[in-house]
Amino acid sequence: MTNKQAPSTLQKMGLDSPMALALHLPSRYEDETELLTIEESLNQGRFGSAQTQGVVIRNQVLFRPRRQLLVTIEDDSATLQLRFLNFYPSQQKQMAVGTHIRVRGEVREGFQGSEMVHPTVRAVAADAPLPTSLTPVYPASAGVSQTVIRKAVAQALRDPSLQDSLAEFLPKRLMTELLPSNDWPNLQSAISYLHQPPSDANTQALLERTDPAWRRIQFEELLAQQISLKRAHAIRRDRHAPSFAKPIKDKSLEAVLLKALPFTLTGAQAHVWLEIGHDLEKSFPMNRLLQGDVGSGKTVVAALAAARVMDHGYQAAVMAPTEILAEQHYLKMKEWFEPLGVRIAWLSGSLKAKEKRLAQEMIESGQAQLIIGTHALIQESVSFSKLGLAVIDEQHRFGVRQRLEIQQRLGSELFYCHQLMMSATPIPRTLAMTYYADLDVSVIDELPPGRKPITTKVVKASRRDEVIGGLQSWLSKGLQAYWVCPLIEESEVLQLQTAVESFEQLTQALPNFKVGLVHGRLKAEEKAAVMAAFKANEIQLLVATTVIEVGVDVPNAALMVIEHAERFGYAQIHQLRGRVGRGSADSVCILMYAEPLSMAAKERLQTLREVSDGFVIAERDLSLRGPGELLGAKQSGDGMLRFVDLQRDAWLIELAQQAAERLLAEHADLVERHLERWLGSRAEFLKA
Ligand code: ADP
Ligand code: MG
Repeated sequence: MTNKQAPSTLQKMGLDSPMALALHLPSRYEDETELLTIEESLNQGRFGSAQTQGVVIRNQVLFRPRRQLLVTIEDDSATLQLRFLNFYPSQQKQMAVGTHIRVRGEVREGFQGSEMVHPTVRAVAADAPLPTSLTPVYPASAGVSQTVIRKAVAQALRDPSLQDSLAEFLPKRLMTELLPSNDWPNLQSAISYLHQPPSDANTQALLERTDPAWRRIQFEELLAQQISLKRAHAIRRDRHAPSFAKPIKDKSLEAVLLKALPFTLTGAQAHVWLEIGHDLEKSFPMNRLLQGDVGSGKTVVAALAAARVMDHGYQAAVMAPTEILAEQHYLKMKEWFEPLGVRIAWLSGSLKAKEKRLAQEMIESGQAQLIIGTHALIQESVSFSKLGLAVIDEQHRFGVRQRLEIQQRLGSELFYCHQLMMSATPIPRTLAMTYYADLDVSVIDELPPGRKPITTKVVKASRRDEVIGGLQSWLSKGLQAYWVCPLIEESEVLQLQTAVESFEQLTQALPNFKVGLVHGRLKAEEKAAVMAAFKANEIQLLVATTVIEVGVDVPNAALMVIEHAERFGYAQIHQLRGRVGRGSADSVCILMYAEPLSMAAKERLQTLREVSDGFVIAERDLSLRGPGELLGAKQSGDGMLRFVDLQRDAWLIELAQQAAERLLAEHADLVERHLERWLGSRAEFLKA
């Protein structure tokens, strides 16, 4: 009767084919291969679960302290009590006095001596054979029993079609030449081994997924991923984009902008600009990530790229995930480009209908050369006249859907524009090699001169008055400061409320200074007005929610206090404190925390105090949260790599990369089959 139900519940888990079942690998195992006497189980079993057997000599339901079934079994060596707190009448019958049963469970000390609570029970003859392999325990959703999954998997493994699906087709030579040792089984053996490991298998390696059988599977999965990324790369090179040669004239925007800048580029900026400039000269679309810690000066590099494109009569667009960030770009670009006669359009969701229409007209007619905005830029109603470059700031903060949308909007069959992504969150190498393999990466690894390292202090919230006292003397020196209010994920209203409270308290405590408040509920122009006042030093202390997270740039504000710092993640605090340390003053970031601190929060704050290198912080973040969250909005790449853990298996990536290259070059005929086997429909996600 379960047979009728089983397929649908299994199907819901995606286990709808022999191949899907074969790849549904156990999360752990139970050892039923060993049978102990009762006496042995009493001694050894205490360290874990044990299997033993005997004849039932007592079967009794007690009602005190609560209803429970007590069963005692006996063999030649000793007796053992079994205790069931919830039980069915059928179970009571199954263990009738005189029956021989085999039980498995953890032995523990009860009030009346050693006992097993809720063991698994089977009524079998004393000489019933033991399994020879470990018993798999599968990941399962609620309502699906292990028995059902085990049966289905075992059946799938015997299915003749599986021989085909799992057939070895990776060339033997390629494998032996590339792989570190030849103890990796082929795919089919690896899979049957993992479903039914022999009793003497190295269970630790199985659980940690470092067993050669696991390695083989992880390698194949990574190989598929690397192949599809390399293919994406090849496809991009086949596409057409306008090429923008370096201008020869001194009057080019690019040259004039460089001259007009109030500073000279750092070595790192000059270097990445060279890389980007080369890309722009190519006739296929650039796909480059510009990475640089907060404050490293990415914006001016984007401006140079935009200038190059505009020099050739094309439009450039700059897009940021939040209004405030986009606005920062707009103000900066206006400052640089308007004196040079560049026509700039601003487009965001909060514009009035009329303003929006006006901006759209300017964009469509080509009157606007430089377009800056939020993701409002990629909406249907916006059509560019001649888009040559799209700069996407903090692109990982757009959701996966938005990113796919951006990709679709920016390309057409005939014509693709160049793309420059920018990020202050360094992407660890492992991640760049897997999720971003079709991405060229430029890194600004140097801060503009004159920046002082930020001193980070960790302070208990109970010392708030002291902190405010320190703030007072700080402001008295003519310097400015930020006060960042706690992140309250559950409630925006609550977050606003605490911000308002802090604002009022600080306004009272610091009567000689002007305190401003900025938060997400303000209208764009209100926000801009507060920010402008802060920038002009009309406001000395800016109380803010996390809206100031990225991009805000006020060099005279070199002190930041973060309330409830324990509620923030690594990246958030690192980005936040990047707001200070932009001028010549010594910069300080005070992380205030409320007790009690969790272990994780304690470690996080400590790390943030000691480490200022964004790369190190990003690596910690990756190990803590996994790539999905780091890449943005949790959903990205989910289910992309099922068997690989980027931390644990990092060394395999390079191997898979080499194998992918060789497979594409020497065995192109096998590529399709391998992709289909491992990625199937998931390949779409690789493009986001
Ligand atoms: P981010 O990389 O975080 O986006 P920005 O582009 O906002 O950094 O730059 C931070 C600040 O540094 C800005 O005020 C910018 O004008 C300034 N800046 C950029 N490059 C240089 C440079 N080479 N020398 C001095 N200041 C610079
Ligand atoms: Mg920036």
